[in-house]
Amino acid sequence: MFDYSASQFPDIVRLELTNTCNMQCPHCRHHAPDKKLPENYPEYYKNQTHMTENQVASILDEIRDNGSKNVTLNVANEPTVAPTFKFAVERLKANGLVGTFNTNGLKLNDEFCQHLVDYDFDSVNISIDATKPETLKKARGITALDKLVRNVERLIKIRGEKMFPRVGVTFVIMPYNEDEVWDFINFWKTRADVIRFTGYITDGKPDATVLPGVEKHEIPPRIPCKQIFKDIVIRANGDVTPCVITAESPHYHSMGNIFGDGGIKAVWNGPEFKKWREAHNTGCWNGISYCKGCDYWLDSFNVKEKVSDDFIIRSPSPYTVFYNVKDKMFNWDKNSLIERQGFGDHQDSGKMSSISSYDI
Ligand code: SF4
Repeated sequence: MFDYSASQFPDIVRLELTNTCNMQCPHCRHHAPDKKLPENYPEYYKNQTHMTENQVASILDEIRDNGSKNVTLNVANEPTVAPTFKFAVERLKANGLVGTFNTNGLKLNDEFCQHLVDYDFDSVNISIDATKPETLKKARGITALDKLVRNVERLIKIRGEKMFPRVGVTFVIMPYNEDEVWDFINFWKTRADVIRFTGYITDGKPDATVLPGVEKHEIPPRIPCKQIFKDIVIRANGDVTPCVITAESPHYHSMGNIFGDGGIKAVWNGPEFKKWREAHNTGCWNGISYCKGCDYWLDSFNVKEKVSDDFIIRSPSPYTVFYNVKDKMFNWDKNSLIERQGFGDHQDSGKMSSISSYDI
């Protein structure tokens, strides 16, 4: 029915250097206070797991040796608390790879920022979600908005005249903060390089109809999900999950373990991935419990683009939109950071033209 195929090696490697976080955001699927109760806390999180330097080196070397480039240094965790974080930054850049990560921004002190700048680390996204301390409290359980703003500004100041990292701020749209979207844009457009909005994905399956402006009848016919053809998601213990969505599931499914089953390439071309891809190519996604009812396959369409006075706005799916500040395009490399911060080839697919996202 479909003939999607995967390269011999994933286009994007998502790497969880540690399974921990230094915050307890109220809506976090893993680290929220109620999720940490013994009866709710998944086995995976009960023990802290950190990748070792040898493990990180073997992963980054395998990526380099297979001609792949794109690495994200976080999954469902806070990467900056990982003991190997700085090592990973150094090895990643020494190997000629392109890196990005999302962070809560708490650890962006002078030394940390300087390290990222010294190594020309490519891209950093800081999750902020608010323009008022009381909103930040609802989103992230803290009120130190001024500290987060200072930390983002610190990174940009230390970057100075250098190009990298490209600095983004992220806002997950929730009912309690959606009226702050414009204030967020206006505040950050003179500071950050890119502003990202994403829809909240609930504990259950991603449901596009909960996103503003998306009506069920506007969703096009389903196609295979690109997640299992392009991205690999590696947890701190080496387990590989099929996609970012299943990685967010407390009781995730493992496609194999890179430390026990022969590395990234072996797992990527192994029987579990083959089974999932075959199911999607034959339209049998509903035979996979995780994929049944999951709308994240919408991310498989091409990026939409719109240009306004201040921004080059790019939206790969109804879940995400990137407001790239026009004045800050000097470090925007559409050939390297594929599909991050709105990077990647823009081909107006037309298939999604009837679906609005946050492209205001
Ligand atoms: S449809 Fe959802 S659960 Fe299935 S592979 Fe795609 S993102 Fe993952």
